Amino acid sequence: MSVLQDLRKFVRQHRACGVLTIHLEPPSETAYRIEIGCRACNAALSRTVDPAAAAWDLMHTDLLLAAN
Ligand SMILES: [Zn+2]
Repeated sequence: MSVLQDLRKFVRQHRACGVLTIHLEPPSETAYRIEIGCRACNAALSRTVDPAAAAWDLMHTDLLLAAN
């Protein structure tokens, strides 16, 4: 499973919990650091994403929707 799929799976699994925390580290030369947490489950997922990943924009949109 890819990093992006991991992140999106986490969002789907916890979207109904109500409160997702999302932290995006500013992009370094090599990668974004993304951390997602669910306060309801006390679960967290942390991944590094290649900023050149073609799916970045799509995933970012999903995360913003999950935060609303
Ligand atoms: Zn949850």
